[in-house]
Amino acid sequence: MTKRIVVLGAGYAGLGAAKRAARRLRGTDAQVTLVNASDRFVERVRLHQLAAGQSLPDLPLSTLLDGTGVDLAVARVTGIDLGAHVVRLDAVPYELTYDVLIYALGSGADLDVVPGTAEHAFTLATAGEATRLRSRLAEARSVAVVGGGLTGIEAATEIAEAYPRLDVRLISGGRIGNGLSDRPRRHLHKAFARLGVAVREHTPVAKIGPDGLLLDDGREVSADTVVWAAGFRVPGLAAACGLATDEDGRMLVDATLRSLSHPEVFGVGDAAAARTPGGRSRMSCQTGLPMGLQAGAAVADLLAGRKPRPARIRYVWQNISLGRRDGVTQFTHADDSPLGVVLTGRASALFKEAITRSTVWRMRHPGP
Ligand SMILES: Cc1cc2nc3c(=O)[nH]c(=O)nc-3n(C[C@H](O)[C@H](O)[C@H](O)COP(=O)(O)OP(=O)(O)OC[C@H]3O[C@@H](n4cnc5c(N)ncnc54)[C@H](O)[C@@H]3O)c2cc1C
Repeated sequence: MTKRIVVLGAGYAGLGAAKRAARRLRGTDAQVTLVNASDRFVERVRLHQLAAGQSLPDLPLSTLLDGTGVDLAVARVTGIDLGAHVVRLDAVPYELTYDVLIYALGSGADLDVVPGTAEHAFTLATAGEATRLRSRLAEARSVAVVGGGLTGIEAATEIAEAYPRLDVRLISGGRIGNGLSDRPRRHLHKAFARLGVAVREHTPVAKIGPDGLLLDDGREVSADTVVWAAGFRVPGLAAACGLATDEDGRMLVDATLRSLSHPEVFGVGDAAAARTPGGRSRMSCQTGLPMGLQAGAAVADLLAGRKPRPARIRYVWQNISLGRRDGVTQFTHADDSPLGVVLTGRASALFKEAITRSTVWRMRHPGP
């Protein structure tokens, strides 16, 4: 009887998983179906570029799946019945039955950390949100980016470079670029100074309003555009349908990326918390794509009666763009802690561009 593999989400993790599983199962009676809310692959790691006015390559999923034998269903997942092995969708075919499910629904902006975020802030987690910010920036005068992590740093510098007339601020509750060692952090601050990005560290935001921010210490920062880049969260679906999740709603998976509560379900990418040498995986494309590829292979092993191999999820770098001509690449130990090796400036920018392009190349050709 045909084995049905259903993959939810066609981001880095889900698309990689679907293609790798289909490739490994070629010639068997298995059928892989990939479900995604849109018919396009979104290069999320470039969404700050989209917001800053650049055009991104158009990547139809139908083209990326051409010749793979993977069926595509463009629909939103609205529920999963784990007992009946059925996924519910808001569009045709409305329901899909599975033997093995790969859950890869990614993450979105967390709008509940600070009051006023949902009403007043712009975010960068989806192509739609980045496009909304792009329209706003055309008429903005002052921008406050909240979040001193990788997304906040990339957004503030990209916006400042694209719109030199704008007054751009970067505000962080802690230290900006906290995972980096001293030298790359010094380079960040040089880039902020060069691009005119005013920086405030260790100043948590208490509230976001229509005209700017209220800080925890009572001071106000005025800005006609606030970009929230300080938190991401996963969809509530995994927890709501009864999959074992951590306190943040990320699926808990074993060493082979199978759910701790439902072994016929695999969890990959941002939506899953997998074991890494340093603890649980951090949300990143760097781990999402390998998780997807390894889950795709594990599913094929499982269906062939072989024991799936434990996934190897390791960090290699933190690779941060600072506009189009500058960057910082901090090479890391497998547990994400910094190594002494660092690239900065144009070399880092070129390196990051090459890695980003090669990621899309791997999405096209994930190999066996
Ligand atoms: C601006 C920005 C810059 C970044 N830069 C980097 C970087 O430099 N390096 C790095 O490693 N990481 C970076 N990241 C993080 C990286 O993009 C994510 O970790 C990565 O996209 C996770 O991949 P994923 O496949 O798990 O999820 P996603 O890429 O989010 O894919 C999830 C897919 O599921 C779909 N989906 C969601 N809900 C539903 C539903 N209910 N029904 C149907 N489909 C649904 C979505 O439409 C999407 O296609 C960046 C993120 C942002 C926002």
